[in-house]
Amino acid sequence: MSRLLEVKNLTTNFHIGVGCVQAVRNVSFHLDAGESLGIVGESGSGKSVTMMSIMGLLPDYADVTADSIRFNDREMTKMSVGEFRKVRGNEIGMIFQDPMTSLNPLYTVENQIAEPLRIHRGMNKAEARKAALELLKRVEIPNPEARLKQYPHELSGGMRQRVMIAAAIACQPKLVIADEPTTALDVTIQAQVLDLLNHLKESSNASIIMITHDLGVIASMCSRILVMYGGIICEQGTVREIFYEPRHPYTWGLLRSIPKMTERKDEKLIPINGTPPDMLCPPKGCPFAPRCPYAMPVCRKYLAPNTVLGETHSCACHLLHPNAPKVERGL
Ligand code: SF4
Repeated sequence: MSRLLEVKNLTTNFHIGVGCVQAVRNVSFHLDAGESLGIVGESGSGKSVTMMSIMGLLPDYADVTADSIRFNDREMTKMSVGEFRKVRGNEIGMIFQDPMTSLNPLYTVENQIAEPLRIHRGMNKAEARKAALELLKRVEIPNPEARLKQYPHELSGGMRQRVMIAAAIACQPKLVIADEPTTALDVTIQAQVLDLLNHLKESSNASIIMITHDLGVIASMCSRILVMYGGIICEQGTVREIFYEPRHPYTWGLLRSIPKMTERKDEKLIPINGTPPDMLCPPKGCPFAPRCPYAMPVCRKYLAPNTVLGETHSCACHLLHPNAPKVERGL
């Protein structure tokens, strides 16, 4: 598989009145063409900021630096604003959690979907309308002809999400980034939207980055997972490695807090005690140390190096040091 996206040492700080929020710290990862990658972590872990940094969608007070962000064989850190905008609209599509805030309330459904086609594909009005109708059919919106003339507030939450997916895939992007695409939807609609994304992934061969706090969503969609905590990637691996051979205590905690098919009725889900770190003043050393039952003195002083455990599996935890005490896997 060829490499579609490669990010090296991405750091994002927000300079706000009271100080500097260190939202993302030296994050490196890659994505191959046709691959689906899940990024999981609690709110504030840096997963959405990582993708917004890559897409150049952060406000001016964000300071984004990276050694390299290569997309489709081009270096994005060296692109002009115009080139960057072209890539963003044409080759990368984004699906956000709340379509109400990302769809323009003053535009009809037709305009929302047709605009990128006119701008990036040079279609005239009639061609863009025809393509928008086809896209609505593709995302299985009932009565698509009538929907073209409607405004976002006239649609249900599930339909708005389908419109946003149609707009995101309109230019046949090589990469679709979906940021919590099902969180605002009720459970049955969530399943339909995930089915739709899976179907689109298979039929278009686009790569997908799925950002979520829900490991269940990732298991149904992705082949590889990045686990983020406190602005760093604490573990990454294939779905099998993360679910069956996790090595980071935070990953253990995430897995303990989701229901299992084999769970007995009296078995309780175990939440992760404590709260995520304040990134205005992150703890020295491992950001998970204040919540980690295995924290050692070294954890409070130094960030653990990334230990490579296999071709696809790596983890940043001092427990992986050969001299660290052996602990039972916390699952
Ligand atoms: Fe826990 Fe230390 Fe590992 Fe951090 S580095 S997860 S504090 S054991």
